Parts: sequence; structure tokens; C-alpha cells
Amino acid sequence: MNDSLVEALNDQMNFEFYSSHVYLAMAAYCSGESLDGFANFFIVQAEEERFHAMKIYKFLNDRGKRATLAGMNTPLNDYKSILDTFEHGYAHEQLNTKKFYHLSDLAMNDREHATIHFLKWFIDEQVEEEALFDSIINKLKRIDKDSNAFFMLDTEFSQRSFTPPVA
Ligand code: MG
Repeated sequence: MNDSLVEALNDQMNFEFYSSHVYLAMAAYCSGESLDGFANFFIVQAEEERFHAMKIYKFLNDRGKRATLAGMNTPLNDYKSILDTFEHGYAHEQLNTKKFYHLSDLAMNDREHATIHFLKWFIDEQVEEEALFDSIINKLKRIDKDSNAFFMLDTEFSQRSFTPPVA
């Protein structure tokens, strides 16, 4: 594994930790609006992102490389609405997908098959993440000013929990 690939994996690991921070800030916004179900959705999302970061941390260790922690930017703490949080989340996931594509390109150029294989899980995961955010945005737009439907969605999201994937 060449140095630039190790650096890019570290960059991605740090971005996953940052993503966790981003979603926790969204959770705090939702809590501030007394929408505990939406807050729970983002807390679970933050836990998932931390899990992603740790998956890369472990992979670097397994490959005899060092995980290098970096400082992170302050996430956005203020949002206009719940829809706004999900739109920011969707844009964040789209950016993350681009980062994984770039990382895969680097791994392929390096003919680093273990890393290419490792990254496949994340690329599949990104398809799910983008689909999830897109579908919630569509629901929120359809709900619009129907407060009953909005609070039903809040209740639905209070049930979401984090289960670490087996693979
Ligand atoms: Mg992630």
C-alpha cells in the first residue's frame, strides 16, 4: 500500500469522525426543537459514522499502517427546518460518495486489491445512505404542512436503533 493511499484512507477515517460530529449537531438542533424522534434518527446516524471511522481505523492497523487522528472543522449547528437538516445530510452523503470513488481510484491505480475489496462495503453503504436521505426528503416535502404526518414521522424515528453490521 503506497503512502498516498494510506494518507487518503486516514483522510477518509477522519472524515467519518467528522460526519459523526455533523449528525450529532443535527441531533442537537432537533432536540432543541423538541423533536426527539428526529434527534434519535441523527444520534443513530452519528453512531453509524463513528462505526465507519473505526472500520477504517481497524483496517489500517490490520495492514500494518498507522491510523492518524486529525482535528476537525466545526459542523453547522443551526438549521432552518427539519427538511433543511436532511437536505444538508443528503449533500454530505453525496460528497462522501465522491470521496469513496476517489479513494477507490487511488486503490485501483495502486493495484491494492485488499483495499479495493475493503472499499466495496462502503460504496454499497453509500447507495443506501443516499437512498435513505432522498426518501426522507421526499416524505417531508409531501407532508409539507400536515402536522399529524410530521409528528408520526417523528414517532417512527424514535424507534431507530444502531446495530453494528456483522460484516
Ligand atoms: Mg459514513
